[in-house]
Amino acid sequence: MLAACNAGTRGDNVKPASANEASVSRAHSEATSGEPATTEPTVMVPMQAEADLTAAKGRKIEGHAKFFQEPDGVLVVLEVADAPPGNKGVSVHAHGDCSNVEKQSMGPHFAPKLEQHALPSEVPHHLGDLGNISVAGDGKGRLEVKVPTATLGADDSTSFLGRALVVHSGEDIGSGEQPAGNSGAPMACGIIHERGS
Ligand SMILES: [Zn+2]
Repeated sequence: MLAACNAGTRGDNVKPASANEASVSRAHSEATSGEPATTEPTVMVPMQAEADLTAAKGRKIEGHAKFFQEPDGVLVVLEVADAPPGNKGVSVHAHGDCSNVEKQSMGPHFAPKLEQHALPSEVPHHLGDLGNISVAGDGKGRLEVKVPTATLGADDSTSFLGRALVVHSGEDIGSGEQPAGNSGAPMACGIIHERGS
């Protein structure tokens, strides 16, 4: 019995080794925890936002959009699937409310400077005018458009954050048709929200 007890206490001789491990990991955690305290991590990560599209009643379309704050504006990348082929108008609307798109719960095209409607290639145009997405015969489409004066800031008057992205059922023909390019009824809507990194 005594021998067994001795063996037990002798087992504690491994202590120095584990103490070394502890000091190593402590040194490591000190090194890593010291860095974030000295810089602001939010500056390192550019603001991003996204919107999941929900099809309007009786419509068939899936879609998702990403928004990237870049030095020269906001890059919008919209991808849709299972959608009817053709050119479909895409616009950012003033209100982040997709609860009743048939009755325009998302408001008019986002236009903080009260411009008139047009395609992005025309000047002037609404800040929220993103042009058209071309949907192929397989129901897929992709639109990539840079909006130079838009932002994703929380309090900016030019921010897309908290507004609604809408895909319309028809082609946006631009400035020839006011106030929205005759792009037809909304087909899908999604609220633009900050993207978790
Ligand atoms: Zn417009």
